[in-house]
Amino acid sequence: MSKLVLLDIDGTLIASDGTGRAAMEAALIEIFGTAGDIATYRFGGRTDRDNVFTLLGAVGVPEEQIEAHFVRLGPLVAQGIERLVSSKQKIIRALPGALTLYDALHASSDTTIGVVTGNFRESAAAKMRAGGFDPVRVVAGAYGSESADRNQLPPLAVQRAFEATGLRFRGTDVVVIGDTVRDVRAGHAIGAKVITVLTGADDYDALCDAGADLILDDLSDNGQVLEAIFTD
Ligand SMILES: [Mg+2]
Repeated sequence: MSKLVLLDIDGTLIASDGTGRAAMEAALIEIFGTAGDIATYRFGGRTDRDNVFTLLGAVGVPEEQIEAHFVRLGPLVAQGIERLVSSKQKIIRALPGALTLYDALHASSDTTIGVVTGNFRESAAAKMRAGGFDPVRVVAGAYGSESADRNQLPPLAVQRAFEATGLRFRGTDVVVIGDTVRDVRAGHAIGAKVITVLTGADDYDALCDAGADLILDDLSDNGQVLEAIFTD
């Protein structure tokens, strides 16, 4: 039985020490002259398209101006992340069990690796590389630059998985692994199973209220995660 596993990045695979926030702040200031109220902004589970329009809209940057320059942001944020990490100003580390799980998913002929993340495509890859996850293994990705609404992303990843593998993943053929209420909602919107971890933005009560199918402290028990992936 073949499964498409859609991995979230921040709070699920990696802890980023505010690297993304710092890189986003620098990129927004470089392009728009302001990053709005980014210091107190809550990113958890939101997409970067949502984040950018919300942050800049709140300080009066016109939507047309944001749209005109939006495409420049992904590469710029990724460069910022790479610079912060290589200069050791920030550390991105893999969360417990995440690297071995990623290896196991890659090694299994019954799993296809997907990514559904609020990050831009470029910054997603930069964060993954910094955490030790080879982004080349991602067969089907959907990224936060593609919609302000996270719920729009899993269907894109499912379609891309079909285009890459010829397999039609439906219902619980798809398993989302994430750390926020928004991961739960986006997964359930396509009938996927959603496994959540407490290494990220949202706490047990929030994930429980959202209806997460499984709530784990972290991914360290790979056997338990894999069993959950393969149990409908
Ligand atoms: Mg996350």
